[in-house]
Amino acid sequence: MDITGPRGTYDILPDKVGKWHRLERVMRQTAELYGYQEVRTPLFEHTELFARGVGDTTDIVQKEMYTFQDKGGRSLTLRPEGTAPCARAFIQHRVYSQPQPTKWYYIGPMFRYDRPQAGRYRQFHQFGAETFGSRSPAVDAEIITLMVDIVTRLGLRDYEVHLNSVGCGRCRLEYRRKLAEFLQPLQAELCDDCRKRVDINPLRIIDCKERRCQEVLTGLPVLRDYLCAECAGHFAAVRRYLDQYAIAYVLDDRLVRGLDYYTNTAFELHVAGIGAQSAVGGGGRYDGLVAACGGPDVPGIGFAIGMERLLLALEENLVEAVLPEGLEVFVAYTGEECEVVAHQVLRELRQAGIRTDRDYMGRSLKAQMKQADRLQVALVVLIGEEEMKKSFYTLRDMDTKAQYQIEQAMLVTEIKRILGK
Ligand code: AMP
Repeated sequence: MDITGPRGTYDILPDKVGKWHRLERVMRQTAELYGYQEVRTPLFEHTELFARGVGDTTDIVQKEMYTFQDKGGRSLTLRPEGTAPCARAFIQHRVYSQPQPTKWYYIGPMFRYDRPQAGRYRQFHQFGAETFGSRSPAVDAEIITLMVDIVTRLGLRDYEVHLNSVGCGRCRLEYRRKLAEFLQPLQAELCDDCRKRVDINPLRIIDCKERRCQEVLTGLPVLRDYLCAECAGHFAAVRRYLDQYAIAYVLDDRLVRGLDYYTNTAFELHVAGIGAQSAVGGGGRYDGLVAACGGPDVPGIGFAIGMERLLLALEENLVEAVLPEGLEVFVAYTGEECEVVAHQVLRELRQAGIRTDRDYMGRSLKAQMKQADRLQVALVVLIGEEEMKKSFYTLRDMDTKAQYQIEQAMLVTEIKRILGK
């Protein structure tokens, strides 16, 4: 039997779980600050949802889905992203008939048959937020601000927001013609996939990751120059709202979402120094998505942050926010009688909200102190015969190595004082 996990997957062992908890906590708190509520959808959906909701011509649908038949012969797919499932739930539960907008967030694993490398996995995690029901440019600005707030609250400073508008179907019609004209004579220089895209969906070529395609695109007509009055007005308003909050961004002509139901605003958050995969998050407006998934004509906008990439970025930037929350106190003891008391003290400290542990291996007092050192606790409570006889405990500050006696009844209060709790 092969005892290694499948390629592109990894285990989060206990020493790393703490930073995931922190990350998730900040994400939830920030989203809730903005009035977003958590939604949980299944890990698998009907394959057709992604074919329609992500798009038949995308790499995700064509190459990256984990699709299988269940025993009833249905084609199911492990979710490769969270937006289409949210749209499906929004439609299925007729959430559109309630007062709008609907503001949802999700957090959880996604699955893509991607080529694993640093920052790229086959099971990875995303935090995402979606707003359904409003076309207001203030909503676009809000969702970009939320993405930025999440990473800054986690302590990230070096990042760049990329911004673009892909207009609506009307503006793109003219632009696609121009683009196809520009690309026709250059077809031979494009990658195999993009050669096919020239006629089917030339917009997708713009964000092709192949270097040869990117080189061909120098001098390309810019989609923003073809926006209709309405879309240009929307984009100008988004920019004004972002300026109002002093959210800095760079305009990025290459940032497109090449599917028909993506409209107007597109954005990404990039961090340098985390390898070739510099996009930590990205999103955009998708006013045609709900209708494409079989629902009414309801607009939407959302983004997703890749949590592994964000952690990588935080670690690269030595951000302390991702350090795990370790133990604070260790209760050390000698002898059987003291063990019972130590077990009681352990209970009292934990009930007071102090992260505490004890020895379960029958270690000597000296070995227990060593263990306390390894666990990097701030304080050790020492319980020996002397302490028992005289009704006090000894408290040792592991930083200064100072030791003093404390009345048993005062222990919790004293420890809380020292820990600043
Ligand atoms: P997307 O849904 O493709 O726009 O991706 C949104 C974010 O999810 C990206 O910016 C990445 O941070 C992250 N992401 C996408 N694919 C992967 C993957 N295979 N492994 C890890 N993170 C990923």
